[in-house]
Amino acid sequence: MDNKENSSKKKNIVVKRKLSKKGLRYTIILVSIILVFSISLYILSPKITLKGKKTIIINYNDNYQEEGATSKFLGNDVTSSMKQSGSVNTKKIGTYKINYNIKKLFFNVTKTRTIKVVDKKNPVIELTGEKEVNVCPNKDYKEDGYKAYDEYDGDLTNKVKITTKKDKQIYKVSDSSGNEIEIVRKLNRVDKESPKIILTKGETFYVKYGNEYKEPGFKVEDNCDSNLDDKVEISGEVDSKKEGTYELTYKVKDSSNNETKVVRKVLVYKKTDVNSGESKPGVIYLTFDDGPSSETTTHILNVLKEEGVKATFFVTNSGPDSLIKREYDEGHTVALHTASHDYSKVYASVDNYFKDLETVQKRVERITGYKSNIIRFPGGSSNTVSRRYDKGSKIMTTLTNEVLNRGYRYYDWNVDASDAWTCAQAKVTDKKNCVYKNVVNNLSKSRPNVVLMHDIKYHTKDAIRDIIRYGKNNGYTFAKLDDNVKMVRFSVNN
Ligand code: ZN
Repeated sequence: MDNKENSSKKKNIVVKRKLSKKGLRYTIILVSIILVFSISLYILSPKITLKGKKTIIINYNDNYQEEGATSKFLGNDVTSSMKQSGSVNTKKIGTYKINYNIKKLFFNVTKTRTIKVVDKKNPVIELTGEKEVNVCPNKDYKEDGYKAYDEYDGDLTNKVKITTKKDKQIYKVSDSSGNEIEIVRKLNRVDKESPKIILTKGETFYVKYGNEYKEPGFKVEDNCDSNLDDKVEISGEVDSKKEGTYELTYKVKDSSNNETKVVRKVLVYKKTDVNSGESKPGVIYLTFDDGPSSETTTHILNVLKEEGVKATFFVTNSGPDSLIKREYDEGHTVALHTASHDYSKVYASVDNYFKDLETVQKRVERITGYKSNIIRFPGGSSNTVSRRYDKGSKIMTTLTNEVLNRGYRYYDWNVDASDAWTCAQAKVTDKKNCVYKNVVNNLSKSRPNVVLMHDIKYHTKDAIRDIIRYGKNNGYTFAKLDDNVKMVRFSVNN
């Protein structure tokens, strides 16, 4: 039994081997036929040939010109029956395809060109200000500004990343295609600017003889340091008991050792020189006494402003502060006439007079910050009314000398509008004309004309424009009284 089974198994194996050898042969033949058939089909099929490259990369916004393709079938040119599809948008980054397709018999052949529109350009960063700046050693750099722009993405300013180092500021930005730009602003940690000392009340300061000199103050400004005021050193001295010009030197250094020096001239003055100042012929000095008055002074200021004329106001304690401020702010001279204008008081004694005068001087200084030294005596320096009150002391002789000793300048007049008395008595319809005539009939081209008027009078207010027009039309000029105008003084009668 065992032997029979073994011999039949051996026979089966031999048969299988013979069969598999046959199968292999058939397979090879079959594959060869398919291969030959395929190659023949390929050779027979229509052919498409692209002009140019199969894959093209172009920059955003560049021009794209499709070069086209040709097609052949069985040795004939069949380009005209080939169909093209697809397009390229060079304004938009992306991958585009142009397809060429031809159908012949049972053939359907397509060939594709790939066009990649890319952004290869870097964005741009523009810095406002210098590329190299000096920065205070003790301060952070204060950004001067910048702008970032990309041809494809547009404004990228918000995407700029800044890295600050001690000696530089780095600006970096990337566009949406990953193109990156980096620029640098150089920071020089140096301070080469000197501080500035600003002297309160200016570089020339007047001190009246005998008055104590008090430092008017100063302020230091510096690009890097604050609070340098305490570091100012002042050298020099003022002896206010000795007339002359003194120099005070103010020095300060900032934390980078930049030094500044300024000099203040302090003039200690004593007596007014009666010959000082110029005498200009043909100039009209309009002067207004006894004001201000809210009834009339405003109108006069309006006319002066409209006519572009500067004048002088000898003020008292009357009227609102605002008008004195306006007189000063509009460039007129605010001068002093005494506070009370009460003859019985001011001419009763020298002390009384100066007390009264200093009261109005302080009023003006409080309102304007300016200490006026230009005065006019009530009634003028030649008045005799003072005799009634001075108990025979010849007070005008004393006062006219004493005001000069104390550095004041006093001005009488040589043209009298007579607006306070004569014209005030005239008929209502004549008042204005009375003032006008009294002024214009007494003007002279051969001397300065100091015109006495009163800004508290209605008829003066009404006449003032005509007076100014007359002056302008007849070759006169107008000015205000100040230290540069020679005093016009009467002779003293008491
Ligand atoms: Zn007066």
